[in-house]
Amino acid sequence: MNAEKIKKEVGKHIDKLRRELIQLSNKIHDNPETMFQEYKACKWITSILESHNFRVEKNVAGLETAFKAVCPFEKKSPRIAFLAEYDALPGIGHGCGHNLISAMSVGAAVGLSKIKDLPGSIVVLGTPAEEGGGGKVTMIEKGVFNQIDAAMMLHPNTKNIVERKTLAVKELKIRFKGKSAHASGEPEKGINALDAVIQTFNNINALRQHLTEDVRIHGIITNGGLKPNIVPDYSEALFYVRALDDRYLLKVLEKVKNCGKAAGIATGASVSFELGSGYKSKKLNPTLYNVFAKNFERFVSTDKPPEHGGLGSSDIGDLSWVVPAIHPYISISKKDIPSHSVEFARAAKSGMGNRAIIVGAKSLAYTAIDLFTNPELMRKVKKDFENI
Ligand SMILES: [Zn+2]
Ligand SMILES: [Zn+2]
Repeated sequence: MNAEKIKKEVGKHIDKLRRELIQLSNKIHDNPETMFQEYKACKWITSILESHNFRVEKNVAGLETAFKAVCPFEKKSPRIAFLAEYDALPGIGHGCGHNLISAMSVGAAVGLSKIKDLPGSIVVLGTPAEEGGGGKVTMIEKGVFNQIDAAMMLHPNTKNIVERKTLAVKELKIRFKGKSAHASGEPEKGINALDAVIQTFNNINALRQHLTEDVRIHGIITNGGLKPNIVPDYSEALFYVRALDDRYLLKVLEKVKNCGKAAGIATGASVSFELGSGYKSKKLNPTLYNVFAKNFERFVSTDKPPEHGGLGSSDIGDLSWVVPAIHPYISISKKDIPSHSVEFARAAKSGMGNRAIIVGAKSLAYTAIDLFTNPELMRKVKKDFENI
């Protein structure tokens, strides 16, 4: 079947879904759920998919809020996965706009599912806890992506950016053990674990100048003592350490650990480290991005990515090393507001946000149609994946 003809049909189906998709997005937005607690979002998304004849499997990869929804003609290949994220941020709600990601992916998948003789099949994968829990990483480990030929999703932004790297990230917890004492009466008998944490931050600030520009290190104090009149005998901080290159990240992590060790020596506190979860940097797939760009540009004019900064991390990075995957960005605000902010959460439930759902769903669906109808393109996508 002719690709343009299918696109026209699918476009009409997505237009008909408009109300349903906006309602879904707004409902998720109004009920923000943080990582691995996204029970309501998971229920609402899967019931829409079920009502459009998708077969839903919940509890995927042992994660209560992960799901897999396959279209009625699931046996056909290539198999394309649309990814739905739906977790919110603590305190800010949907300040990353994941409610829109769900609605766009559902729209693309349902729109395509209405074409009975589509030369391929589609699946929606609900991937929880992008903001730190790494739902996709667990799903990769459990083989959920094994039969998938390409995976895609669109992320809200203030620009329309087709292609961008993400930073590799690793969590590092630093703990200090000191000795308590009366902070006024006998401070000389105490070892101040909080001072060790503060000194660690200062050491890291001195280190920054001598790292490559892409590196980001940011932390919070997760335990700073109990009362000012007790010398804190225990203190800890949690850092996210990020870099473009996965190997360089390991080197930076060692340097950050040294900052903690030095602070321990300076204060007399003993130090220990715990590496937490992390994400890989994103592997780009130029062919897949180009196909997406052509479809995206039917609706919006695209922006060049900023030359410096503006990069985050995501578990799509890990996925991009397992299957060809894209994670472009769609603008939901004319103002240059920061992501992970109250302003961005507002934009995630706005007229422009709602319009993005339809444009996003169509751009994703049309990209899948190009891959379904042009086997040579799918071969090139696979070649890119193997060669880069
Ligand atoms: Zn985010
Ligand atoms: Zn996000």
